[in-house]
Amino acid sequence: SPAWFAAQGSTQSAGTKLLSISGDCKRPGVYEVPFGISLREVLALAGASDVGAVQVGGPSGAMVGEDALDRKICFDDLATGGSLMVFSKSRDLLEVVEAFLQFFVDESCGYCTPCRVGNQLLLQLVQKVRAGVATAADLEQLSDLAETVKMTSRCGLGQTSPNPVVSTLANFHELYAGRIANAINGREPSFDLAAAIAESAALAGRGEQERGE
Ligand code: SF4
Repeated sequence: SPAWFAAQGSTQSAGTKLLSISGDCKRPGVYEVPFGISLREVLALAGASDVGAVQVGGPSGAMVGEDALDRKICFDDLATGGSLMVFSKSRDLLEVVEAFLQFFVDESCGYCTPCRVGNQLLLQLVQKVRAGVATAADLEQLSDLAETVKMTSRCGLGQTSPNPVVSTLANFHELYAGRIANAINGREPSFDLAAAIAESAALAGRGEQERGE
C-alpha cells in the first residue's frame, strides 16, 4: 500500500530503491532495498568482501573508499541513480579512472571545447600518472582542468565526466601522490631530450647536410 511504501526508508528519503550491484562481489544483481540502508549492509547482501572502492552512480558518479561504508544510501547522504560498482583491493583504481575517461572521450558529441578537448587532456594526464612520469605540477593541472571541464561544459555529460578524477583525487589521493616523479633539474622526466633533438634535426635536414647527402 502507499502507506507501507512511505513508511520504508529514511525520514527524508521515503520508500525503497532499486540498486544494480556489479563488480567484485559473489552475488551481483538488482536489489530492492529501503532508503537509508548503509553501504556496508548493501555490500554484505551482494557478498562483497575485501572492498577497496565502490563507484557510486556510474562513471559520472563518485568513487568512495572504506571510510564511506557506514554512509546511508539516500538523497540526503550517499545519493545514487542506482548503480554500484565494487572494486576489490587488488584493483588498480587509476586503471578504472582511465577507462571511465576513455568512455567520456568516446561519448562526447564534440559540440563544446571543454568537454571535447578537456576530457582528452584529462585522459592524457591520468595516463601520464599511471606511467610514473607525471610531476606535482601535472596533479595541479589535473585538478584545475577537472574543475574547468565541470564548470564550463554545456551539458550534463561534460559537467560530470571529471567526477572520477575529482572523487579519486579527494578520496584516494595517495594513488596519485605515490606515482609522482620528481622533476630532474627542473625538467619534466617525461621529456625525451635526445628524441626531440633528433626530430628537429630531421625536420631541418641537418643530419643529411652533415652527411653530405
Ligand atoms: S558537454 Fe555535452 S554538448 Fe558539450 S561536447 Fe560534451 S556531450 Fe557535447
